[in-house]
Amino acid sequence: MTNAPEPVNAPPADFATRVQGTLMGGALGDTLGYLVEFDSLSEITAKFGPAGLLDLSQAEGPVHFSDDTQMTLYTLDGLLEVLEWANNGVGSDINACQWLAYLRWLKTQGVPAAVHAPEQPPRWIDRQSVLHHQRHPGNACLTGLSTGEMGTTFRPVNPDSKGCGTVMRSAPYGLLPNVPAETVYKISSDAASLTHGHPSARQSAGAFSWLIHALAIRGLSLREAAESARDRAAEESDADSQLMARLDAALTLSLHDDEPRSGTELTEALGLGWVAEEALAIGIYAVLATAAETASPVEHFLAATRLAVNHDGDSDSTGSIAGNILGAFYGEAALPPAWLKLAEAPSVIHHLGSEFIKLAAG
Ligand SMILES: [Mg+2]
Repeated sequence: MTNAPEPVNAPPADFATRVQGTLMGGALGDTLGYLVEFDSLSEITAKFGPAGLLDLSQAEGPVHFSDDTQMTLYTLDGLLEVLEWANNGVGSDINACQWLAYLRWLKTQGVPAAVHAPEQPPRWIDRQSVLHHQRHPGNACLTGLSTGEMGTTFRPVNPDSKGCGTVMRSAPYGLLPNVPAETVYKISSDAASLTHGHPSARQSAGAFSWLIHALAIRGLSLREAAESARDRAAEESDADSQLMARLDAALTLSLHDDEPRSGTELTEALGLGWVAEEALAIGIYAVLATAAETASPVEHFLAATRLAVNHDGDSDSTGSIAGNILGAFYGEAALPPAWLKLAEAPSVIHHLGSEFIKLAAG
């Protein structure tokens, strides 16, 4: 009889709902925020009333998710390819699979890559026309990929870029079971270097995926997971001082604020969210500051995403990050049923989530 070691971070019993919750929670937060991505707070209140944008039903006409959800789904598809190879007994280069997936995303945006860039045959995700709309993709993602050069940590493309495009797409790395948390951090930060070279972009993505993994796979509480992500980021020899300052502020303020700070008070403390560390800090603050023992998962989700999007900054990315976090924590119980009825293409998101659950936990 052998004493085989227990698998590291085996998928929890509620793995499936946490995966679907992370993906759909992010999509709903992104969709709410995308209604006001480029609006100042005063423009938001002028449009939606003094309390701001509170609900998807306030939109005129159909609502849409943005590039944040599109890229998150392509992150998931890159991991799906890795898992498909692994389940066939073949090892693959994880970061190369992510690069190929993001190159296929680039094609959906109608942006050509350099002629020497590799091209994969289309996969299921590439045939979903709902993902081919241009929803204000980030410039560094477009330019970094269109070089046809595979950026790495030591030779990144866009060396000075730290836009939030790395963080907002990186929740799926945290959904990987059966790997140490350190592996999740490395996969996520390596993939950030495919488009953004600044240390904060890489470390913010790694810390965010670590946080999602701590919730969805390791079962930590929201505050424990956020503190653990901050501590992991601090271990880097070149830990970005701005990232550490923003994470410390989000953790401290959310603990001591009697009432959650919102709007201008929020962005004065944590930034506008256009860059990686600010988007991550706002997402973390929004979920921690609105946690109330009496709130149901849906009430918490509504409070956090409303807080995360009503400000002068990058509302869809901050909404997406807050939604990912609460979906990872509560699973699908966090998703407001009325919002699910209005959401764009939930079946596409659910299908990709189901494929991941099957391959990752099988
Ligand atoms: Mg966006």
